[in-house]
Amino acid sequence: MKNRFVALLVLLTSSLFASEGMWIPTLLNLDDMQAKGMSLSAEDIYSINHSSIKDAIVHFGGGCTGELISDQGLILTNYHCGYSRVQAHSSLENDYLTDGFWAMNKDEELSNPGLKVTFIKQIIDVTDKVLEGVFPTSTEEERNAIIQANSLLVVNDYIENTHYKGEVKAFNYGNEYHLIIKEIFTDIRLVGAPPSAIGKFGGDTDNWVWPRHTGDFSLFRIYSSPDGKPADFAAENIPFIPLHHLPINMDGVNEGDFTMVYGFPGSTYEHLVHKDVEYIMNQSNPMRIKMRRNSLAIIDAAMINVDATRIKYAAKQSRISNAYKKWIGQNLGLDSFEAIAKKKEFETDLQSKIENDTTLIEQYGSLINELNKMSIEGWDVHLARDIFVEFYYYGPEILRFSIGIDNLLAQMDTLEEGSEHYQLLVEKLNNKSNSFFKNYDKSIDEKIFESLWPIYYSENSNDYTVDISSIKGVSKSWNDGTTVAATLYSSSILLNKEGFLKEINSSIKKLKKKLDKDPIYQLSKLLYANYTDNIKGEYAMSKTRMDGLMRHYTFIQKELNNDPFWPDANSTLRVSYGKAEGSTPRDGMTYKYATTLDGIIQKNNTGNTDFTIPDKLRTLHSDKNYGKYTNEDGKISVCFLGSNHTSGGNSGSPAIDGNGYLVGLNFDRTWESTMSDIMYNPDICRNIMVDIRYVLFIIDKYADAGHLVDEMTLINVSESKEAEVIVL
Ligand code: ASP
Repeated sequence: MKNRFVALLVLLTSSLFASEGMWIPTLLNLDDMQAKGMSLSAEDIYSINHSSIKDAIVHFGGGCTGELISDQGLILTNYHCGYSRVQAHSSLENDYLTDGFWAMNKDEELSNPGLKVTFIKQIIDVTDKVLEGVFPTSTEEERNAIIQANSLLVVNDYIENTHYKGEVKAFNYGNEYHLIIKEIFTDIRLVGAPPSAIGKFGGDTDNWVWPRHTGDFSLFRIYSSPDGKPADFAAENIPFIPLHHLPINMDGVNEGDFTMVYGFPGSTYEHLVHKDVEYIMNQSNPMRIKMRRNSLAIIDAAMINVDATRIKYAAKQSRISNAYKKWIGQNLGLDSFEAIAKKKEFETDLQSKIENDTTLIEQYGSLINELNKMSIEGWDVHLARDIFVEFYYYGPEILRFSIGIDNLLAQMDTLEEGSEHYQLLVEKLNNKSNSFFKNYDKSIDEKIFESLWPIYYSENSNDYTVDISSIKGVSKSWNDGTTVAATLYSSSILLNKEGFLKEINSSIKKLKKKLDKDPIYQLSKLLYANYTDNIKGEYAMSKTRMDGLMRHYTFIQKELNNDPFWPDANSTLRVSYGKAEGSTPRDGMTYKYATTLDGIIQKNNTGNTDFTIPDKLRTLHSDKNYGKYTNEDGKISVCFLGSNHTSGGNSGSPAIDGNGYLVGLNFDRTWESTMSDIMYNPDICRNIMVDIRYVLFIIDKYADAGHLVDEMTLINVSESKEAEVIVL
């Protein structure tokens, strides 16, 4: 009896605090949010009738989130989200990576061609319109064609005669469709970034790890045309006046306080069947980990000793290392959480619910079996695609450069030589080459090729590898990395900046002739063609069939299980909520919910170079020169944990308290949470946020850029008797 009571209590407690889910802002779990301490209304969070918190949130650069923190267009996002921009502005003379960058007035802000931020104006359920003309008897191909055509009409209907963009997105594998109406700004300037020793404090040692002390933030500013509309960079542009910016709670959060994270999580895969999880754990992740481990060993060694190489490869190293470490943690987490067994249990349970219902058995009786069977059938081609993506997009860079050049040359083929458009493409060829060579090191790239090529071969099933025996010089040993690399990297015209630019600017015809005989150009084309001819179609077929079944699978899960059902993340705007709290992730280990500046000094004292800090930060600590940015106990809080369900893409998302005030900046998850894109465990999964007061402390006290803090709206919530919701 006693045991039953304890079991019931555990069940109640965990469901009471269960915080799984990334909710569409128009379909919030509002009662639960309010029960957990939120004072906001649905309209405060998302409204089309007046300003709301959504108007302070932007999709930053497509892969991250940012938020408006002043009425002059100032955006806060992660350091790692702005990193490639800081890197691009850096040189040996202006080493912003080491020294940080701070615009002391608006004229010093730096423009970032190509960078965009996107506001969401409206989210509209258009399921009925999009599915008009689709019948239960339609094949997947017919269904997709109708959906595509209907979506175009829907988008057109809503955005015609406006400057907005529209996109119809599928949710729950196409059970629902929402139209997302967007406003996209393109004049985005860099305002401030701390040195890497603060913004990336802890480096790869601490990435995905708690306790954490990273000041992972950077500042940008949106500029608009004088009438407040999106405009490309121009001198007459003005700082954008947003509909809403987030006020800052200078008292921060206490353990147990409500928090929510509002942003654009990229992709999650929570509803997969167990064979899919097996594929990820046993095939895809090990291959990707192996390739990246090899690349990183080469890049890291090269970056340590030479400053110029460090600057060139900083952003590229991060691009490779972040997911590398995540996948290692993901596999460990899924394994120790017995994810495959749990999925099987779930499937057995759902199967018996289906079998107990005579109205469902015919349509859904064999669904789970079919899904698992189809998953196995697709493993080889899915792996071939994953290998291609990994090798081509994250491996030797020269292959990507080559295909980029090929694309431009192909466009030129259709144009009259010397025409205006033709000349524009010549200019593009020059720009592309210049920016590629700025950060390229041939010997690093060659070593990467040498090391990854054998993996490309050994991991792929024979049906999907590329035959390169037609390339002169490699015919006898085309699966041997060292020999192939030596041939390719000794005779290609793509490797030498001056030579290549000269070719572009003397004769495109001659350049093309030379490229046709160039071994790297040939390999790049062969690899790409092998993917498009041999892999892409089969993969797409497998995915279409699988997604079709997943649509039924998510539908029936939603029907038969009582829990509120949320659609997997798909880079659309979502709200996650939970509270500021630590966890007990492993035997004998407890994570406290927050860290302080003292911890930075302790880590620095270990001598690990990932914990190097600027002298000034040490002095601010020893002098206790903290200004108004302290906790109640007089310390500087640096990072805190929360039970908000987040994913990649939530990087830079605001952590907002129950009154709509900014308290932190989301940037990572703990080691045990790296599995949460596939399986979320509410007891141990935690997101990591920088305390907003640490951000302000660094801006004001470290960087002497207090003028930026002056732009913001700071509120001492405890002093104003009752915190007001100040959204509307
Ligand atoms: N740091 C993470 C990322 O790189 C954010 C997350 O996945 O939680 O995407």
